[in-house]
Parts: sequence; structure tokens; C-alpha cells
Amino acid sequence: MTSSAMPTYVGMPAFPDAARRAVADARLRGNLAHATTTIRGRRAGAVAELADWPALREAGKQIKDHVLANLGHYLPLLEEKVTAAGGTVHWARDAAEANRIVADLVKATGETEVVKVKSMATQEIGLNEFLAEEGITAYETDLAELIVQLGDDRPSHILVPAIHRNRSDIRDIFLRAMEDAPEGLTDSPAALAEAARRHLRAKFLSAKVGVSGVNFAVADTGTLVVLESEGNGRMCLTLPETLISVMGVEKIVPSWQDLEVFLQLLPRSSTAERMNPYTSTWTGVAPGDGPRDFHLVLLDNGRTDTLADEVGRQALRCIRCSACLNVCPVYQRAGGHAYGSPYPGPIGAILSPQIRGIGSDVDASLPYASSLCGACFEACPVAIDIPEVLVHLRARAVEQGPRHPLERVAMTAAGWTLRSPTRLGLAQRAASASRRVVGRGGRIRRLPGPLNAWTETRDAPAPPPESFRAWWARTDGGREEGNE
Ligand code: SF4
Repeated sequence: MTSSAMPTYVGMPAFPDAARRAVADARLRGNLAHATTTIRGRRAGAVAELADWPALREAGKQIKDHVLANLGHYLPLLEEKVTAAGGTVHWARDAAEANRIVADLVKATGETEVVKVKSMATQEIGLNEFLAEEGITAYETDLAELIVQLGDDRPSHILVPAIHRNRSDIRDIFLRAMEDAPEGLTDSPAALAEAARRHLRAKFLSAKVGVSGVNFAVADTGTLVVLESEGNGRMCLTLPETLISVMGVEKIVPSWQDLEVFLQLLPRSSTAERMNPYTSTWTGVAPGDGPRDFHLVLLDNGRTDTLADEVGRQALRCIRCSACLNVCPVYQRAGGHAYGSPYPGPIGAILSPQIRGIGSDVDASLPYASSLCGACFEACPVAIDIPEVLVHLRARAVEQGPRHPLERVAMTAAGWTLRSPTRLGLAQRAASASRRVVGRGGRIRRLPGPLNAWTETRDAPAPPPESFRAWWARTDGGREEGNE
């Protein structure tokens, strides 16, 4: 899949540069630390309530793996059932095709405005921006998404896209960009929620077209499922005359019984709730009830390429709960923007480089945006071994990605040295001799010139006074030493 499969945020630097800037922002760090610590604690409590959590997690993993291995069966089945229920299914190979399909469907209704329920898939394809170019305005209706949209900002968390904003930021954004914000709006949560509610209600009542994502699709009945916490999704899914849902092809579950597993895993992992507040399900169209016209856009956008990778394919199990973000020490400090894509945190570090390919500096840097501590794996409700995929992608980044010219020269020199025992011996002697210059107290704290990039963030051990080979030759493999 080409690098155009998912747009990289314009002008986005590679992760280390973006993260360095984010870490220097004390207010951002404070907002992130507060929010992630709170959610993490609540989630741990909600998970601990279920004695069969490990079994549920294993069931979630196996259902997802089964679907991924049998997409050729489940996708046509879903299409058949949705069509039989009066819906229309569209297939999109990439972001460009999906955007075109949605824009044409909206234009066919004669409308120029749509209401949206928060959707990672539509963020992945840059739908709002594409619709804007086509003269169509998309209104986000999730509160956090609305804050991001009105602030001309980017989401920085899967579940709480405005996690980097505090209450006074939000009040300022509303007063600046919400045309019907009440005068004298305060930053109390109740006042902010009321302002958003009034603003959105007007949009819901006038919109003729709704756009949604899909959390799950039940193949054997053709039922689509959206989970959300505010009720805005329910409004988007029922009030408009036309509903267009965009869904990654991996979102299928075979049956309602399989759905039961995820309806336990997802709320507890994401919002730490025992049961999801608003779970909307719909099957095609029903006369006199809900939208009269329903379209489902099935999006590939790099997913079948990801599926072909035996190690990397497990990323497609993701149910976008965001638990891995809240436990990640790197995400907690750097925030979501540093990842340069709609998918931040540990899952973003493995999903974006697979969907987009490792062709850019941003994508080549993402597999390194981790300490490999494994907390994300522990938290993941579908047991995605994120550290394993990170290491796998690091190898790919070295093979395929853009490399610093200095690194290329250093690796060529290392290869030349290692190919000859004589050259290796000379290099080891030179390294030992340099010990007094570069290493004090057994540590190298600063390498000279551009090599300083390595020691800037870490100490390196000083070369030993004698190499292993020199020691072996001097002591006859330790025998002489034993006799000393
Ligand atoms: S990778 Fe796992 S923990 Fe992270 S968002 Fe996806 S399902 Fe949740």
C-alpha cells in the first residue's frame, strides 16, 4: 500500500522531534498525566471485577483471529445480509476511493451539511477535509471531537480526543468558534456541556445526512453496531434521512454471541464502565423508523497488506479501546500529536507504519516510539503483542526506511571491519586506547560531533581496557590467568 493510504499530518516532524517539543510543554504534560492516571486507575478496578477477564480476553483474541483468517467468507456474507436488509454496500480500496464514494453519496442527496458521530475510520481517510474541498461541511457531534474541530486542532487520544485541553481552553474555544455560544460562558463542566448540547441539537434537527463509523458488524445478520457515551451517536444514526457508515474490513464479528464478548471487553477497557451507555444497532433500513437510505462503505486502505504480514497482522484485532495509550509511559509524556496520525500511542506506533508503509521519516520513527516495557500488551483486551510488532517493524524500518547518511556510512564501515579478523583486532585496540579520552568513570557521556545524537539521551559504557580477543591471546583462554 502506498504512503498516501492515510495522510500524515502536514509538516509533521519524525516522532523524536515532535515528542521533544511536546515534553517541553508543561501544561500539556499536566493535562495528560491527570487524565491518563484517572482513566487507568478506574479501568484497572473495572477489569478486576471480572474473574473471567483472562478467558474473555482470549475469546476476543480468538474471534478476531478467526475473522481475519476468514475475511473472504465473512465480508461477502455481510454484504449479502446488509443488501437483503435494504442497505447498499460499497467497496473502497483506499482513502481516495472511500472519500469519493461518501462525497458522491452526499451530493446525490443535494445536501451540503452532514452530522458525524466520532469515527476513527473517517479520520484515517481524512474525510472531513475531503468533504470540505467538495463544498460539504461535516459537523462532529461527539463533545471532544467538537472541541477539536472548533479549535482547528487534531485529536490526540482515541477515546478522549481533546485530552490535551483543560476547561478554560475549552471555554475559550467555544467563545471564539461556536457561533451560538452563550455570552458570559463559564468554564464549569455543566455550562460547557449545556452550550455544546444546544449547539448540537440545532445541527441534529436540521441535518438530512449522517456519517458514522462502525465498532462491530455482525456478519450473520448484517447488523452494524456503534458504541458511544453521550447519545450523540444515536441522534446521528436515527434522525437523518440518509446514513453513510464507513468501516474498516476487520470490524466483523461472526454472530451476536461473539458480539457479547466485545460488549464486555470494550467498555471496561476504554471508559472503565461495566456496560456501555449507548449501544446502537441497526440492520439495513426499516420503513417508518430511522434513515430511509443506508450505505455501508467497506474500507481496505492497507488492511489486506497488513494481513499478509504474519507478525504485524495482529494489529488488526484492535477494537480501539485506548487502554494501551493510558498505560504507555511514552504516550503519557509525549501526547497523541507526536505520532503524526489519527492513531496515537502504542497502537498508532504499529498500525500507522503498516497502513502507510515505512516510506517517510514519521513512519520510520514510529516503531521506536516505545520503551518496549510491555505495559500495552498487558492492558490490551484482545492481547495484541505490541512490543513484538514494534521490534518486527524496527527491523523493517532498518531494511526499507529512510536512513541517515551518517548511519549508512557507519554501518558500511562496521561491515568492512567485521569482515576481517585483523581489522577487527585493530579496531578493538583503537577503541580501548580511546577509553581515557571518551569514557570517564566507565561511561561515555558525550560522543564527539554528530555521534552526540546517540549519547544525548543515554550513557554508553566505555570500551573495556582490553578486548576479549586480546585477553584470550594473553591468557590462553584463561588457563594462564588461573595459574597466575
Ligand atoms: S491495541 Fe489493544 S489496548 Fe490498544 S486500542 Fe487496540 S485493543 Fe485497545
